Amino acid sequence: MIKADSIINAGDLLPNKFLLKGISVSETHAVGDCDEPFNIALAIRDGNDAGRTV
Ligand SMILES: Cc1cc2nc3c(=O)[nH]c(=O)nc-3n(C[C@H](O)[C@H](O)[C@H](O)COP(=O)(O)OP(=O)(O)OC[C@H]3O[C@@H](n4cnc5c(N)ncnc54)[C@H](O)[C@@H]3O)c2cc1C
Repeated sequence: MIKADSIINAGDLLPNKFLLKGISVSETHAVGDCDEPFNIALAIRDGNDAGRTV
């Protein structure tokens, strides 16, 4: 255990669609951070857009 007063997460926010490779269905949509890390508003919009296309 490391004692600290504060922790700063400085990890890179990178897209990661690895999970889609293991799925065998006719249509898949990557939404939110896994497609383009940005903010909650974009993730919600992505999910809304994807939901309307299926
Ligand atoms: C430190 C930090 C601060 C942030 N602050 C803000 C802010 O103030 N305002 C803002 O708008 N945005 C902020 N963001 C960005 C925002 O959190 C993300 O853009 C948003 O949460 C993306 O939503 P998402 O649904 O795509 O992904 P996530 O919210 O990351 O949801 C993905 C979910 O999938 C789950 N998961 C992952 N792998 C698997 C698996 N193999 N099987 C099952 N489940 C899995 C995860 O546990 C998680 O619950 C911040 C991000 C970080 C890291």
